[in-house]
Amino acid sequence: MLLWIALVVGFGGSASAARPLLVDPKLAPDLFVWTDTCNVYVLRDGDAALLVDLGDGSVLDHLGDIGVKRVEWVLFTHHHREQCQGAPRLRGTGAKVAAPEAERALFERPMDFRKMNVRLGDAFTIHGSSYVRPPIQPIPLDRAFKTNDTFTWHGHEFVCLDTRGNSPGSMTYLLKLGGRRLAFSGDLMLDGAKMHTWFDTEWDYGFAAGIKALRQSVARLSAQQPAWLLPSHGKTLHAPPSPLRDYAEKLARLEKLYLRGYDSEGGSVAYQDKVSTPTVVSNVFQVSPHLFKFKRPNFWPNFGLILADSGRALVVDCGLLDEKFLDATLDGMRAHFGLKAIDAVIVTHMHGDHFLETPYLREKWGAQIWALDNMVDKMEHPEWFDYAAPIQAYGKKNPDGSPMSGVRVDRAFKCGATFEWEGYRFTVDWMPGQTEFALCLHGMIDGRKVAFTGDNIFGDPDDPSQTGHEAVVAHNSAILEEGYIYAGEYLKRLQPDILIGGHSFVMDRPAKFIERYRRWAYDMRDAFRALSWDKDYRYWFDPFWVRAQPYRVALRPGESAEVTLHIRNFRRGKQVHRIEIHTPPGLIAEPAVLEGQLADGSRKSVPVHVRATPEAAGRTHLLAMDVTLDGRRYGERFDFVVKVGPASPLLRSGLGATRDDLAGNTPIHIVGLSKPICNSSIPSRTREPNNTLEPRISMNAASRTETVTTMTTRLCGAATTIR
Ligand SMILES: [Zn+2]
Ligand SMILES: [Zn+2]
Repeated sequence: MLLWIALVVGFGGSASAARPLLVDPKLAPDLFVWTDTCNVYVLRDGDAALLVDLGDGSVLDHLGDIGVKRVEWVLFTHHHREQCQGAPRLRGTGAKVAAPEAERALFERPMDFRKMNVRLGDAFTIHGSSYVRPPIQPIPLDRAFKTNDTFTWHGHEFVCLDTRGNSPGSMTYLLKLGGRRLAFSGDLMLDGAKMHTWFDTEWDYGFAAGIKALRQSVARLSAQQPAWLLPSHGKTLHAPPSPLRDYAEKLARLEKLYLRGYDSEGGSVAYQDKVSTPTVVSNVFQVSPHLFKFKRPNFWPNFGLILADSGRALVVDCGLLDEKFLDATLDGMRAHFGLKAIDAVIVTHMHGDHFLETPYLREKWGAQIWALDNMVDKMEHPEWFDYAAPIQAYGKKNPDGSPMSGVRVDRAFKCGATFEWEGYRFTVDWMPGQTEFALCLHGMIDGRKVAFTGDNIFGDPDDPSQTGHEAVVAHNSAILEEGYIYAGEYLKRLQPDILIGGHSFVMDRPAKFIERYRRWAYDMRDAFRALSWDKDYRYWFDPFWVRAQPYRVALRPGESAEVTLHIRNFRRGKQVHRIEIHTPPGLIAEPAVLEGQLADGSRKSVPVHVRATPEAAGRTHLLAMDVTLDGRRYGERFDFVVKVGPASPLLRSGLGATRDDLAGNTPIHIVGLSKPICNSSIPSRTREPNNTLEPRISMNAASRTETVTTMTTRLCGAATTIR
């Protein structure tokens, strides 16, 4: 019988036990734990039980083994799906449900937190990218707790304590049992002084609100002196004070490294660079005879301009500017510096604020829009992704008055591509940092090697206390090896004479600065690794190692669409995965289960068809990917959004699905990455960036001396130096 249960439970159930286990037979004879997508604690009284968290609900099949006939209450520590994905199974059982008041909306109205058209300021997002992971079906609450509330069940008194941090309103339930104070602590801290996930703690754009909240919560819980910690994942902690202290120290170190590595509070660094000088054109400063930027107090536009002797110009980034002001400035450049034409604007990375005005430059000046190949689909179809700061989130209008939902790219460079322009020779390299989808443009201008580095490094190179890093944002897609570590190694090899950053930053003679930045990047990774509950921190840091593309799909009842599931193996050695696609009523995914394995450091893309039944409710739905990796059940970690009903204007205007496609009755196919989008002669198919970790720097022989050329050749084929 037991064997049979074990087989039935199989992959989806608890690997550790086919029945709830006693937490401590001697000291707590009525307290059990069941583990599936999280730890479910069962407090028994006779044949009744109270649960702390529910996991996938499989515990309900095994309560009979411990004499429990009915569940009276389920107390959720927080809203993450690992804790509550089994909630639909409670329907009709009479069980009541309670959760923190601060997360009530996440339980009861989860779809309020998934939008087809995101804005920078949307609740619980980092510039539009969600950091909450609510259930895919609403869970109405019978009760919601504030901190210090008490709740009594069969003579047991629970005290509620605000321990937010890994989730915006998490709660710890304190219970006196057998003379001991137990803390059902959710995801506050796991065994070994570890954090459950980084990406759930990332609440803002690098200002550490989540880390600060966690540190306060650790202090609050420590003050309660719990005898045991019963966390949502992993083992019970029988002597919590010491791990709580370790955890607080690790968090403090993380926060210190994590906050920006330049004086971002002072607000004066950007325009007070030591190199540029004012010109007769107001707000335009000159860095060197052929290189210009905008500059004035409290002014953070993205705009650099290379002006050739012929009067033709290249612009690097264009956004966060008033168009009238842009017009006036360019007119001034025409009158005083002989500006005649803008051939192209090169966009450094996929964030909307760097190319908001590029369509305007195309319209007014005929400028082409150039980018790196891995940026193209994020610029043209930002709604296919869940990354931070997509262009549609800025609420800007196109020159024709329609909402700006994406910008067509005219030319896409491959990493290492070079181009000649007006006697200059430039190279475009992949240079991730703040985000994976970014480039470095470099070349000789006025006798110096100039590198345009976007938003990856800012500050005053002469201040030895500065490390120059910008915000660390996992929701940008930015594991350190494909982010700041890569950038540090890359810039060290490139040896630029001057860095031109986004937001008006100009950094002269940056070699030492780059070295501090490079070292910081490794320290930052170490601080994350020290807290990671996953052996490889990247599974704990990156919110996108399984993701659906498009992230947002619009369907009418009866229609279907193809989405591609992208799965990634970060490690050396194969990984075995099982992914179940969980759908709310009215939606069907085929196949619903994907099983497979990935070789050493590889990626895989699998098509899945999502269909809306004729009865599907006309609203936005959330679908989840329930992941098991090498036998470890992660639960419904990732999601994507399907809107049933008339297609949204955003998707109708997209280049992938036409208005006619979405209006018709035939099934449509919205296929991510399926067709070349640009109409330039340069191959523009988007691809994932090169999977190797070596910084690939391509410098041209003509622009440097012999020795440098030799060095460059060696560097291009060099073995990795990323540790
Ligand atoms: Zn959680
Ligand atoms: Zn920016």
